[in-house]
Amino acid sequence: MTIANNIAPLTARLLEIQRMSTEDGPGIRTTVFFKGCGLKCRWCHNPESIAPHPQVQWIESRCIACGTCVSQCPEGALELTAQGIVIDRQVCRNCSVCAEACPTAALERLGKKWRLEDLLAEVLKDRAYFDVSGGGITLSGGEPGLQARFAAAFLDRLRAQGVHTALDTCGLYDTKVLEQLLPATHLLLYDLKIADPERHRECTGHTNAKILENAMHAARYLRSQAKASRMWVRTPIIPGDTDTPENIAAIGRFIATRLEGMVSRWELCAFNNLCADKYRRLDLPWPYAGCPLPSANRMEALAETARASGVDAEIVQWSGATHLEGA
Ligand code: SF4
Ligand code: SF4
Repeated sequence: MTIANNIAPLTARLLEIQRMSTEDGPGIRTTVFFKGCGLKCRWCHNPESIAPHPQVQWIESRCIACGTCVSQCPEGALELTAQGIVIDRQVCRNCSVCAEACPTAALERLGKKWRLEDLLAEVLKDRAYFDVSGGGITLSGGEPGLQARFAAAFLDRLRAQGVHTALDTCGLYDTKVLEQLLPATHLLLYDLKIADPERHRECTGHTNAKILENAMHAARYLRSQAKASRMWVRTPIIPGDTDTPENIAAIGRFIATRLEGMVSRWELCAFNNLCADKYRRLDLPWPYAGCPLPSANRMEALAETARASGVDAEIVQWSGATHLEGA
């Protein structure tokens, strides 16, 4: 056996590869979703990406009620009821035996290990649309920084291939991780959700101290590299949690004074309910059931607050579906 044969291939646990994305950076992109995140935002739109380990979910529309999964589960965690398959999450060990046995893919395993070489081969198939659209590849999640060795190697290899790279990050990890990831990242997509540390902890499970520290570190790095237009900040506009003028103004002051000149876009992303089904499939409560979309007027008012907060007004924009005022 050669020495090379003794070196285990670099792997990461990924949730999904999403093609033809237009929301995760410039141009048309392929987004790679990593599994596992250090935050637990109560509005998370990818709840299946939070746990670092594999999980199973049941998709009602695919189920033919054959009962195969129930008989195969080694833990006795499944029951076929009049309402469909019920998973006892206290008993389930996420072994995925049921998903492998299900004839219709109604039970689905979330989270698959990928080898670096296999992932590169898969995403580079999309090169044709990167090249014509000015797009590239975005690492998202979950949090790519929790699988930093793999993420850094992936970014390096993409850069060597001349592919534009974006890193979508929540910023919660040791600063050394950021230092590993930044050199091969062309565009940093950085989430700033809540300015008040205690409120941040209540809504996400952690204070924002490390996140703000890492944002400043990234800005210093980009400044030192003369990469002035390579950081976009994104703020989710969540009813009752992040959508106050005070919060938006405070985030704006932070961008203006601590990330000065390094942010070329600050996007306010309107809340939506599209992830409600994901919560149901994981047997998790969706705390925003019945919450209406914000109105366009509300989003525009928050954008005005953002523009008046001290940042360059040109960098502020908002996105997402809205409801008609008075409808
Ligand atoms: S993942 Fe494993 S333990 Fe959980 S329900 Fe499926 S077969 Fe049973
Ligand atoms: S094996 Fe699949 S199709 Fe059959 S009952 Fe289970 S989830 Fe439904």
